[in-house]
Amino acid sequence: MKKDNCIFCKIANGEIPSRTLYENERFRVILDLGPAAKGHALILPKEHFDNLYELPDDWCSDVMKLAKKMAAQMTEKLHCDGFNLVQNNGTAAGQTVFHFHMHLIPRYDNDGLNINWTPGNPAAEELDAVRALICGE
Ligand code: AMP
Ligand code: ZN
Repeated sequence: MKKDNCIFCKIANGEIPSRTLYENERFRVILDLGPAAKGHALILPKEHFDNLYELPDDWCSDVMKLAKKMAAQMTEKLHCDGFNLVQNNGTAAGQTVFHFHMHLIPRYDNDGLNINWTPGNPAAEELDAVRALICGE
C-alpha cells in the first residue's frame, strides 16, 4: 500500500524524479539529497511502512541483501574505505521521514563524519538488570 502525501512513496514509485542507482519490484535506491558523504544513498521500499517495526520479515531480509549488493557496488566504484548502514526509527532516533528507509553511507579515511557515540560504563548489575528487562525475567 502507498500512503497519500508520503514523499518517499512518491519517489519510490517514480512519481517524483530521483537519482536512482537501482530499482527492482520492491525497492528503489536513490541518492540522498542531503548526503553525509559522497555517494550517500537510501533504500526505499515501494510500499509504505512507517518504520522497521512495520516492515514484514521477508522485506527485512530483502532489504539487507540489497544493502549488501549496493555496498559492494558502491565500494568498488567509489573506492570508499568503509561503509555504514544506518536505519533510524522514531523521532528520538533521528527519523525525519516516516517511511522506512535504510541509509547507505560510504566512508572515507579521515572523512570526519560523526556518527559515533561515547561508550558508557555501566556496572555489571545494571547490565544484568537491562538484560532481565529485555528478556522478561
Ligand atoms: P532520516 O533522518 O533517517 O529520516 O533520513 C531522512 C533522509 O532523507 C535524510 O538523509 C535526508 O537528506 C533525505 N531526504 C529527505 N528528502 C529527500 C528527497 N526528496 N530526496 C532524497 N533524499 C531526501
Ligand atoms: Zn510512504
